[in-house]
Amino acid sequence: MHRTQIVLNQQTLKEIHSHASSTYPEECCGLMTGRIEGESKTVSGLRRMKNAFEPSERYHRYTIDPMEYMYAENEIESKGDEIVGIYHSHPNAPAKPSLFDQDHAWPTLSYVVVEVRDAKPMNIASWVLKEDRSEFLQEEMRIVAANSSNDSVERISE
Ligand SMILES: [Zn+2]
Repeated sequence: MHRTQIVLNQQTLKEIHSHASSTYPEECCGLMTGRIEGESKTVSGLRRMKNAFEPSERYHRYTIDPMEYMYAENEIESKGDEIVGIYHSHPNAPAKPSLFDQDHAWPTLSYVVVEVRDAKPMNIASWVLKEDRSEFLQEEMRIVAANSSNDSVERISE
């Protein structure tokens, strides 16, 4: 396991599931936005991205157009948020990054992968690339009730 954790709320999880179902049997992809505090990332929003890979390979590959990424990143950062990770789906494959994913990942982001079978979302897991890029390590994923992540932060600071 990686030392970090990622926190998603139920609404965000539902949005990832419905995106993954709607693009089945092709991979979906998108950005997860939110905050990084120490070793914990809290996802507060998603931004769907187009799978820009060539159509015949989209059942097992995704790529995000660099211009679309830059445009989204500027907009997200102008709102005071940041990109904490990227989610994508694996139609008929486990919720585990492929070697292709590993070759195209950045060590600072979280990579959430959702397995989809017959258009139904199954397992979901989050992964972080080791600094030396040698492998992906799974990180803890916590699912909290919708909109409760802000509440719990407030309660802790009281
Ligand atoms: Zn993948």
